[in-house]
Amino acid sequence: MTKTTNIAILGAGESGVGAALLAKRQGFTVFVSDFGRIKEKYKNELSAENIEWEEGKHSEERILSSAEIIKSPGISDKVSIVEKAKEKGIAVISEIEFAGRYTNAKLIGITGSNGKTTTTLLTYHILNKAGLNVGIAGNVGTSFAKQVANEDFEYYILELSSFQLDGLVDFKVDVSVLLNITPDHLDRYEYRFENYVDSKFRITNNQTNEDFFIYCKDDKAIAKALESKKTKAKQLPFSIKEEIKEGAYLNKNEEIVFNLINQEPQTMSIHDLALNGKHNIYNSMAAGIAYKVLDLRKEVVRESLSDFQNVEHRLEHICYVNGIEFINDSKATNVNAVWYALESINKPIVWIAGGVDKGNDYEELIPLVKDKVKALVCLGVDNSRLVEAFKDVIDVYETSSAKDAVKLSYKLGAKGDLVLLSPACASFDLFDNYEERGLEFRKAVREL
Ligand code: ADP
Repeated sequence: MTKTTNIAILGAGESGVGAALLAKRQGFTVFVSDFGRIKEKYKNELSAENIEWEEGKHSEERILSSAEIIKSPGISDKVSIVEKAKEKGIAVISEIEFAGRYTNAKLIGITGSNGKTTTTLLTYHILNKAGLNVGIAGNVGTSFAKQVANEDFEYYILELSSFQLDGLVDFKVDVSVLLNITPDHLDRYEYRFENYVDSKFRITNNQTNEDFFIYCKDDKAIAKALESKKTKAKQLPFSIKEEIKEGAYLNKNEEIVFNLINQEPQTMSIHDLALNGKHNIYNSMAAGIAYKVLDLRKEVVRESLSDFQNVEHRLEHICYVNGIEFINDSKATNVNAVWYALESINKPIVWIAGGVDKGNDYEELIPLVKDKVKALVCLGVDNSRLVEAFKDVIDVYETSSAKDAVKLSYKLGAKGDLVLLSPACASFDLFDNYEERGLEFRKAVREL
């Protein structure tokens, strides 16, 4: 069965190829176009399904004769082919939007500037423990579209970045989670924070009064936006600062209280959480509520939040070397993530930071740095902004390899100290990605 409708797909990465497979299964005529080079693995997947593709160019005439275009989140709206398509009135949608049309599964969507992956995995872990038939997709692992094409999950936990949210039109999730909003990726949003906030709020677009919106009440940007933004979904806030009638909060005994109407309130000591740090109290609250609103009654939240295995590169304990602890937080690519890392540590810190600075404002770190950090070891090609921000606060050193940074930090540390890699910056100056940076750090520590 081939529908006469043509669909063009821009970008042949995980999401583009997933969309192509699903579109083909749904009987569309599919054409995939990538301006760069397509990975061998993806070429094979497309060819195996007889899907036509091109690389190194966009054949305009062909693409612009499609009824609809599916664009990968990595491609900006500003590229010429997308602008031309829009001028012609062709709908340009995302892979998530497209895949959402072909599943009846219950969808839990998770977004925020930080904590998406951790909370997505935590939520997945809880639903899995409850024995549900659940998939995980979005920004992580196998694309949503490919899973909709190949699997039969009844629930999906979707990690949604702002780029993915930007491509949504009619798509909606049953449960949305908004963890926090702090400046990040502003280059994609005309350097206007409000544009980025709008993008994050798209997670609750199209939600109805049968749906749920779980959000952090302590987050200033979210609280401010909620003064003017409307959502039909039932709002379930979480907070560590105030008591919440419906949602979750931290009580005086350092217990999380999950409070949902028609359910017995449940408490859990924060000391039983698998993940440390204030930020992970938030993440755990969000994941717990997301499960509880499904109202399945199987009690698995407490157990799941306490036996969850941490994800690599996020405040990951590596080892002790002569009494100095080493922690890999390579995924901390913005200032807010570093704030939570420093906040969660109660030992003198030798802090390794640096890389590609995204226009960071380090001001908010200064009190914590003064209080907790012994020395800053910069790890980057151009460390000038970090040096400038901290040179009058603590001792600052410069290195340009993970090995040198680790050796120097070890020298600067003493028994009882902690060496923290928490860069506040992207990794592309010295590494392929944050994973490689974390792995090199770990290797260098093991070689001490
Ligand atoms: P994301 O997928 O949004 O990038 P991750 O779960 O991968 O988030 O975590 C990224 C970084 O942010 C890590 O350094 C982690 O320790 C930190 N982090 C995790 N959760 C939060 C949170 N709720 N608030 C601030 N920082 C967080």
